[in-house]
Amino acid sequence: MDDGRWTKMSSLIQAKNLTRRYSDHVMALDHVDLTVERGEWLAMMGPSGSGKTTLLNLLGCLDRPTEGEIFFENRLISTFSAQELNRFRRENVGIVFQQFHLIGYLTALENVMLAQYYHSMVDREEAKRALEDVGLGERIHHYPSQLSGGEQQRVCVARALINQPKLILADEPTGNLDEKSEETVLDLFRRLHAKGHTILMVTHDVTVGKMADRQLQLEHGRIAGSYLSPLQAEEDIENFLKRLWELREEGKLSYDYLQKNNFLDHAGVLKYMQAKELLEVKDRKIYFTSAGELRMRDIIRRHRLAEILFSKALHMDKEESAVEACQFEHMLNPDITERICTFFHHPKKCPHGKEIPGGKCCERP
Ligand code: ADP
Ligand code: MG
Repeated sequence: MDDGRWTKMSSLIQAKNLTRRYSDHVMALDHVDLTVERGEWLAMMGPSGSGKTTLLNLLGCLDRPTEGEIFFENRLISTFSAQELNRFRRENVGIVFQQFHLIGYLTALENVMLAQYYHSMVDREEAKRALEDVGLGERIHHYPSQLSGGEQQRVCVARALINQPKLILADEPTGNLDEKSEETVLDLFRRLHAKGHTILMVTHDVTVGKMADRQLQLEHGRIAGSYLSPLQAEEDIENFLKRLWELREEGKLSYDYLQKNNFLDHAGVLKYMQAKELLEVKDRKIYFTSAGELRMRDIIRRHRLAEILFSKALHMDKEESAVEACQFEHMLNPDITERICTFFHHPKKCPHGKEIPGGKCCERP
């Protein structure tokens, strides 16, 4: 759908037309489309019975849809057999439930090692480290009944993470915890997110929801609303503008092209950009405002200068520098950007041979 540079950071999960009926009368999920980006923290909210757990289970390979498709890293998993799905889940998904589901006659350490056993090989030292990471180094030989609720949930987090899953699912992970334990467990999730883990979390708690990059509001099995955190919205805009600039460079920019290639189904970013007066859509054509043009030049400039920095100073290859630049560009302030440009004598082309828009320091338009 896209050229290689963007596919590298393509979505982790894409779900289309997702429907789950439990019987003729119960449609728990009703034709839902959803994309989950790599590294994203998504909170699912909504009243009891609205389909949160159902959606979580489908995306986490615990259940199969009645209708619709789920792609996990571009693999169509919705047609997997139950057995294939089980294996895929063990390799790719870590799960934290509200009820801890720890095995009572095994110690904390053994509970974590059991997850290793189901996945591949048991490694006692690694399991110990995982428990130390969640602050339970002193408790590894305790049984669940000897641990507080918060401590048990931290064992669950260690267990969920032990096999380095690509996706972490959490269904009301703080639902059974007192306030202090909740804080500790949420802190763990914040750290996981900062490390780049992808997290899907069901929660009732608005404050918890706000920690996520995006909140989905479910009602009657449908997505009734989708809200980005302000920071994430800004990054999304920049990423989207970058794509638009590149498509224009390649002479491919049109509303129809965007629609056909699934650029428009991600979190209403186009609408958000119209509201921010960065662009307008008229008669299926896209027009940038001058603010939009400036913003787009600026992010392309930062991205390509970051690529120069990574390839020339750190000798990364083109592909690697492009991937690293995608993270770094959002942090570059104007001053640092000008300094990079000046240090490399105002380069006119990025490592891919594409033009770097000029800035103040280069006295180029
Ligand atoms: P939530 O997590 O938002 O509370 P669920 O996804 O658990 O909602 O449930 C959505 C709907 O599907 C509810 O009406 C619920 O009663 C129904 N449901 C959930 N699981 C089952 C099941 N295993 N069998 C029959 N109905 C179910
Ligand atoms: Mg539920």
